[in-house]
Amino acid sequence: MEYYIIPDKEALSQCAACQGNINEMTEVFGLGAKLKPGVDLSEFESHCIQIDLVSDESPVYMMITAQGSEAKNDGNDCMFLVCSESCSQKLTKVLEKEISLGKMFETVLRPE
Ligand SMILES: [Zn+2]
Repeated sequence: MEYYIIPDKEALSQCAACQGNINEMTEVFGLGAKLKPGVDLSEFESHCIQIDLVSDESPVYMMITAQGSEAKNDGNDCMFLVCSESCSQKLTKVLEKEISLGKMFETVLRPE
């Protein structure tokens, strides 16, 4: 599968669930996920990529966490940015579907 790196500026200004705009005024929520063993996205480390979902949802932007980063140490292989608690819940549902159908994700890690 081919992935494209999305410029940070663009990826970090869009909610992964509703595609709404995120700016300095928006409270941002992070949602982490763990990739399945064998899914190697290390070449995209610390970059944002667009991924297609196996469900009919629109593609989402995902950030690949860097080795040694706090997020990575907490067990997140990748992070999604969302603009609200409800978007976080919506994206969690989408990702749970991906986990059952897809080959990419192992678990969704909800922030405490
Ligand atoms: Zn949103």
